[in-house]
Amino acid sequence: MKFFSSIRPAKGNGGKAASFAPTLEWAAEQRQAMVARQLRRRRIRDERVLQAMGEVPRHEYVPSEHRRIAYEDHPVSIGQGQTISQPYMVAAMTEALELRGTERVLEVGTGSGYQAAILARLAARVYTMERDPELFRLAGERLERLGVTGGDTVVLLHGDGSEGYPPAAPYDGILVAAAAPRVPDCFLEQLVEGGRLVIPVGSLDQQEFRQVRKCQGKPVSRVLGHCRFVPLKGRHGWENA
Ligand code: SAM
Repeated sequence: MKFFSSIRPAKGNGGKAASFAPTLEWAAEQRQAMVARQLRRRRIRDERVLQAMGEVPRHEYVPSEHRRIAYEDHPVSIGQGQTISQPYMVAAMTEALELRGTERVLEVGTGSGYQAAILARLAARVYTMERDPELFRLAGERLERLGVTGGDTVVLLHGDGSEGYPPAAPYDGILVAAAAPRVPDCFLEQLVEGGRLVIPVGSLDQQEFRQVRKCQGKPVSRVLGHCRFVPLKGRHGWENA
């Protein structure tokens, strides 16, 4: 069984590594290798997703002491007990949204802002919601510095995304970047007909990563793999996790 994780801690030196100043050439080579070895080899096929992953500077989304390992095949700690997901998970979840460029998308769990930056290249409008106030603040500063926010494409929100975000609904796609105990009805209600919800569902230790399509108002679910994500907290998540 393939098992992909979003919660493996950073490696080596007790999770602390010496700070590292990457060059543009280093980062470009790292991205090329990541796309070839971690994504194409594992059958990520959507060329738009592969291009976005090959362009967005992932090392800018991790704390400076983890930059050296930003492109490795595992999640990386971003503080507050949270992680930036493994590159493969980001690509697979994004691909499952089936974006063509015109869509409105909700991401639950902004974290570092990396997934939102990928989505911004693939959809027309991205709403991304983070519950943790410190991560929300850091992601806001980072996305502004990197030029991801500031235009009309990305809207960063602070709050409990386990309830979705009704004011901007309906969405063509909803991506939940944290593990839910079950699929909350509110996500399906906030999708357009034919819209796709991508969500890890299961226990705190292991989840199925599912694509749920809204067909004639009903959920049609496909299991795309197994994964291990940090918990979705809040009203429709794990209240006490
Ligand atoms: N997409 C992120 C990135 O690109 O860095 C990684 C997401 S991280 C695996 C999960 C995130 O979900 C954490 O930042 C966590 O604080 C957030 N989260 C958990 N429950 C949430 C909720 N109910 N609403 C919004 N964010 C939540």
